[in-house]
Amino acid sequence: MAEITPEQLQTWLNHSRKYAAAGEVASYIPELRHAPRDALGITLIGCDGRSITAGDCSVPFTLQSISKVFTLLLALIDNGEAAVFAKVGMEPSGDDYNSMLKLELVEPGIPFNPLINAGAITITSLIHGPSPAEKTKRIMQFFQEIAGNAPLRINEAVYHSEAETAHRNRSLAYFLKDNAVLGDDIDVEDVLETYFNQCAIEVHCSTLARMALVLANNGVDPHNGRTLIPRRYVQIAKTFMVTCGMYNASGQFAIRAGIAAKSGVSGGILALVPQRWGIGVIGPSLDRKGNSIAGIHLLETMSAALDWSLF
Ligand code: GLU
Repeated sequence: MAEITPEQLQTWLNHSRKYAAAGEVASYIPELRHAPRDALGITLIGCDGRSITAGDCSVPFTLQSISKVFTLLLALIDNGEAAVFAKVGMEPSGDDYNSMLKLELVEPGIPFNPLINAGAITITSLIHGPSPAEKTKRIMQFFQEIAGNAPLRINEAVYHSEAETAHRNRSLAYFLKDNAVLGDDIDVEDVLETYFNQCAIEVHCSTLARMALVLANNGVDPHNGRTLIPRRYVQIAKTFMVTCGMYNASGQFAIRAGIAAKSGVSGGILALVPQRWGIGVIGPSLDRKGNSIAGIHLLETMSAALDWSLF
C-alpha cells in the first residue's frame, strides 16, 4: 500500500485549496446556500484501519446524490437485479442529472441510470417498507451499518427546504408515474418524501470514507469481516460510479483520476481505491456540472501522484 503521510496529504490539500472558492455553492435547495463556500476537507480510511485527514473535516454536509449509490444497493438487496433493471437502465444519459428530456424521447421511457434524479426516485420507490417513515428508517439503518455504525441524522432544515422547492423533481416523479415506471401501487408524494429524506442525511468526510471503504473491500467491512453487501451488487454500484458518478464530467474524471466516485450538490465526494482506501471529500464550491472544484482537483492530484487509476 502506497504510504501517504499526513504532511503529504496536507500539502496536496493546500495546493487544491486555491480552487476552493472558484465556483458557486448550490442554491436551488435554499438551505444549501449556508454551506461554507471555501471549505475543503478530506478523510481517507484504509482497509488496514489507518485513518488520515486534512482540512475542514469537521464541516457537516448532506449526502444529496451520494445517497443514490446506497439506495441502489438496498433496492438490489430488496428486489434483485432483474426487477431493478426492469425499471432503470444502465447507460450514462449525457444530460443534466435532473433532466426529463430522454424520458419522453427514448422508448421505453425508463430512466437511463440509477444515479440521475429520475432513476434515483424510481430506485427509492423500490425500497421495501409499509410507509415513507419505515422506508426512511430502513435506509438510515442500512447506511449506518455501512458507515461502521456511526449514528446518522437527517438535517431537517435541508429536508424541508428541498421538499418545499422541489418542483422539478416533483414533475419528474409525476412524469414517471404517467409512464407507469412508478406503478399503480406507488404514491408519488410518498416516494418523494423518502427521496428527500435520503438526500438530507447528514455526514462528515469520515462517514463518507467509512462507507466507501466497504465498497473498496467488495461489500465486506474490513474492520470486522462482516459481509454487508453482496459482492455482485457492489460491482454494479462501482460501475455506475465510474460511468455516471460525477454527472456529465464522469468521462473526464475517469480519464484524469480513474477511480470510482460519486459527488453530490452539497459538495461531497465519495471515492474509493479498491482494496486500499475509502475516501470522503467536502468542498461546497461547485462547477457548472455540479462537482466540487477543489475536491476534484485534490482527487485528480492524488490519483496521479499515487497511481490510483483503474485503467
Ligand atoms: N437532492 C438533490 C436533488 O434531487 C440531489 C442532487 C444531487 O446531489 O445531484 O436535486
